[in-house]
Amino acid sequence: MIKFRFEYGMILIYLLLGSGWILFSDELTELLAPNPEVAAHFQTYKGLFYVFVTALLFYGFLRKHLQKLRKAEEKALESDRLKSGFLANVSHEIRTPMNGVMGFAELLKDESLTNEQRLEYISVIERSGERMLDLINDIVNISMIDTGQVRLHLSNVDTSKLVTSLAALFEPAAIEKGVSLKFSPCSGDGMVGNLLLDREKVICVLSILIKNALKYTSKGSIEVSCRREADIVRFTVKDSGIGIPEGQLEAIFNRFVQVNMSYTKTYDGAGLGLAIAKSFVEIMGGKIWAESYQGSGSIFNFTIPYKTS
Ligand code: ADP
Repeated sequence: MIKFRFEYGMILIYLLLGSGWILFSDELTELLAPNPEVAAHFQTYKGLFYVFVTALLFYGFLRKHLQKLRKAEEKALESDRLKSGFLANVSHEIRTPMNGVMGFAELLKDESLTNEQRLEYISVIERSGERMLDLINDIVNISMIDTGQVRLHLSNVDTSKLVTSLAALFEPAAIEKGVSLKFSPCSGDGMVGNLLLDREKVICVLSILIKNALKYTSKGSIEVSCRREADIVRFTVKDSGIGIPEGQLEAIFNRFVQVNMSYTKTYDGAGLGLAIAKSFVEIMGGKIWAESYQGSGSIFNFTIPYKTS
């Protein structure tokens, strides 16, 4: 279909309407007012009528077009703002661990260090490396989502085992923070044995949610559970951390969005985790959402269809 630019379309409509009016308005007058006296009145106001009708018409067109442009402008500004925030975050996310690596590598050169100090410095370097690797993984995942390279790989998985197997991965971090981390086996009818699901994606989404729960919780507990509800399986990660303001509960699933840049700077992260989790859950045919009251913890839920082999 041929698509005219807006200004060409306007001129064309204007010319068509104008020519049509000039050519046919006399016939129209005769048709509507056979009486010559009434027809004379019509002739007087004919031009005025045309001006008003076309003005109204063009006002409508322009308004619609400008609304579209303003929306696009707002979107572009918002995306620009988010991208600048993201770049600042990414620089911060690279610079901070990099400083850790460089600084502690320098300290390791000291030959008088005790074995304990050496091990402590090595673990700082390892943690810094992990943080940079997390960022790189997030960027790779986002670009794979954008280029449509993420596919569903279903296999038979013991869901309870999958959930509880994550305990070993996150327990050391929880112990270090003094937070209790509880993993419950899956509950509900038909949850014993294998389910058909995308193991890697479920692990990835759960890991993002557990990592966040650990990051934003300094005391109390984190509970990871899963249960069958009719034709879906619901995974839940509940924490007793800082919580999220109600108005931000949807926005945090958008890329680069962090609740509060000033306090988020005290936490690491580039604002990509939940956006990746959302895309993965949607690819698996499920939904993800959060419930929270600021200051009293958060509950993140995601669902996948219940399928057995
Ligand atoms: P980030 O790398 O900043 O953690 P995410 O996309 O994973 O990015 O999360 C987006 C934002 O959502 C976070 O910056 C944080 O403000 C908020 N958030 C996510 N999980 C939690 C949680 N469990 N408790 C409180 N806030 C959270």
